[in-house]
Amino acid sequence: MARTDDTAREEIVYYSKKVHASGLVCATDGNLSYRLDQDRFLITPSGVRKEDVSGEMLLVMNMEGAVLEGEGRPSTEYKLHREVYRQRPDVTAVIHAHPPKAVAFTIAGKRLNTGLLPECVVALGNVPLAPYALPGTEELPRSMAELICLSDVVLLARHGSVTVGSSLGEAFKKLEKLEHCAQIQLYAELLGGPQPFSTREISDLEGLRGHYGISNRTMPFREV
Ligand SMILES: [Zn+2]
Repeated sequence: MARTDDTAREEIVYYSKKVHASGLVCATDGNLSYRLDQDRFLITPSGVRKEDVSGEMLLVMNMEGAVLEGEGRPSTEYKLHREVYRQRPDVTAVIHAHPPKAVAFTIAGKRLNTGLLPECVVALGNVPLAPYALPGTEELPRSMAELICLSDVVLLARHGSVTVGSSLGEAFKKLEKLEHCAQIQLYAELLGGPQPFSTREISDLEGLRGHYGISNRTMPFREV
């Protein structure tokens, strides 16, 4: 069903507040976008706390990076969103956040293992890590362009996450789950270290995706 710009605006405002309230972004960090059609997407503005975002503040951009509608400056990471829409014609919504526990793993140089809990294996798969790139530059979208084709969830070293989906609700669910995995692993590390699943257990869980009709793009754990 075709969506109107109004619905897209309402969804971005709703999930901006949710991302902020969940502690997945800090201050003016992070950005959310919604694809309106093949050439245009709606995106949050630069320099606004996500809890303060309103529908009128959002900007419509095209794939060349021009602002078509709206006042002010678009998010400095609009290039990241544009790259996702270029690489993934199936994606309607993108959330770039700074989930603190997941990012802490990338800073400590310790692998965030999304293969420790059944629901994370099924929903997220083996989440890849993009190498550090200077925020706001062309280097950042380049660092994750190949990975986002393989996985709906990508971690950005010393920075944050990119989660995508057919709606902002889908992208947000993956973001929440990513941070939840990081929190559980952190607790397990404090208790002496996580005990991993066996290869067979992982493969049985991966087999459940078809059973539950989960069509997320995920990377297999055997490629670790
Ligand atoms: Zn960021």
